Amino acid sequence: MKTLGVYIHIPFCVRKCVYCDFLSFPAEREIQKRYIDALKREIEENAVRYRDYTVKTIFFGGGTPSILPENDIKYIINALKVYYNISPDAEVTLEANPKTAGYEKFLALIDAGVNRLSLGLQSADNDELKLLGRIHTYEDFLKSYEEARKAGFGNINIDLISAVPSQTVKSWENTLKKAAQLSPEHISAYSLIVEENTPLGDRSSDFPPLPDEEDERLMYHRTKSILEKEGYRRYEISNYAKKGFESRHNIIYWQRGAAHTHDYAGFGLGASSTVGASRWKNTNDINKYIMSDGRDDIKEEYETLPQDDLMEEFMFLGLRMTCGISTDEFFQTFGKKAEDVYKDVLYKWTKQGFMEQSGGYIRLTDQGLDFANMVFADFIL
Ligand code: SF4
Repeated sequence: MKTLGVYIHIPFCVRKCVYCDFLSFPAEREIQKRYIDALKREIEENAVRYRDYTVKTIFFGGGTPSILPENDIKYIINALKVYYNISPDAEVTLEANPKTAGYEKFLALIDAGVNRLSLGLQSADNDELKLLGRIHTYEDFLKSYEEARKAGFGNINIDLISAVPSQTVKSWENTLKKAAQLSPEHISAYSLIVEENTPLGDRSSDFPPLPDEEDERLMYHRTKSILEKEGYRRYEISNYAKKGFESRHNIIYWQRGAAHTHDYAGFGLGASSTVGASRWKNTNDINKYIMSDGRDDIKEEYETLPQDDLMEEFMFLGLRMTCGISTDEFFQTFGKKAEDVYKDVLYKWTKQGFMEQSGGYIRLTDQGLDFANMVFADFIL
């Protein structure tokens, strides 16, 4: 059987953060209820498509999935259990905002089948949190984290963002250290990307300056050195984990090109799916989604990627991981050797010390990971 990663999009948030361009917004409870019903129908309607798959991971992302009453999450997990082959050891992750979940909800989520929690801290500095428009303080986060542990979560990710307005290298180091001292199993540490269509991007309010390029680079390097010292291994450009706690869901995403055995089903508003060379994206229109009754007319932007695009994607996504791409898997998938298709590119970047090849894998070196986007640009065929 083939492997499936399931993504469930919950687009609701208490309010919009100033940097956020995700598909998320506040909504009345009545809309949330109708959305959950439509989501369940979409899951049911697509069961036949995925009957030959084993679901290895389920990821509730958003938005803020923890905004929903726990019964909504249970209802969706139960629908998946009825219609899909869920692996007994499936990783089931839910993203939570510290202000929207506490002990009782965590207990109920564990009971519903959630076994991994991703808590959005972003910063341990309350001034930075306020500037970002987050609804929680660092103290709210600590309370939520402790209650998640007490409820029984043994696999927790903490999300952090560097290079936010007014941030100094010292305050970022402080955030990293405070997060690591709690000893979560996983830490994601991304640099803020300022998107144009957000209050931060269009400067519709006054924001203090962003860290300059030099400080941003220092933050990036300090992330690796501090987290490695605390026992975390970087396994992807922005993701760190204790041994055995790498995010299986994200790995399916980064390795999804591999032999077409790792497919990816997205359910909910704006969710994307990738099945073999085909992909599509659901509508962003909540009214259309709710009225759809789970039918295929919510699926938009259908495309079947040509082999060159698939090879590019195989390299872009796979090289994000520190283990790199397997040359055998590349050959099994495309019937061509990666070393032949990318001969000149591999020669160029290996000579400069940005790439290396050993043990059947091609990977970026630490130096290559620092300039990954520049290297990736060369993999376009
Ligand atoms: S909580 Fe997350 S999804 Fe919601 S507005 Fe903030 S950044 Fe966006």
